[in-house]
Amino acid sequence: MFKWFGKVNFAPFTKVTDFAQYLKDGRLMGSKCKKCGATSFPPRADCEACMSGDFEFFEMSGKATLHTYTKIVAAPTGFEEVAPYIVGVVDLEECGRALAWFGETVKEEEIDIGMELQMVPQIFDELEEIKVYYSLEKPGTTWSKTNSAR
Ligand SMILES: [Zn+2]
Repeated sequence: MFKWFGKVNFAPFTKVTDFAQYLKDGRLMGSKCKKCGATSFPPRADCEACMSGDFEFFEMSGKATLHTYTKIVAAPTGFEEVAPYIVGVVDLEECGRALAWFGETVKEEEIDIGMELQMVPQIFDELEEIKVYYSLEKPGTTWSKTNSAR
């Protein structure tokens, strides 16, 4: 039932392809501009603040606060098999915002705007191309590698 994970990939990343490699190692990275120090997630090769192309990666904690969420009942094409499911938008502790699926550690009735969550990268790498998605879990949940056996 999880074959839809394969529909998400990192094709948009060019200068920041190392990001996918870090994810594969279970590290969630943001980018930090070497010139002005502005941080970004997802990582950007070119600074939004000063346009510098000189950046470095820094590791993010994955700590997040729930900004909003929605339950998807009428799923878009490709996602029908897993509906209903719940997605949330979180504010990450360091910077940035992300859209992620709720994982199994959080029950639907526990979901509350403003709650603290842990955003965990989940990697699906049986194919050459790295596929990734994020799940929202209870604080303290450690990164776990998704594999084809799941
Ligand atoms: Zn900058």
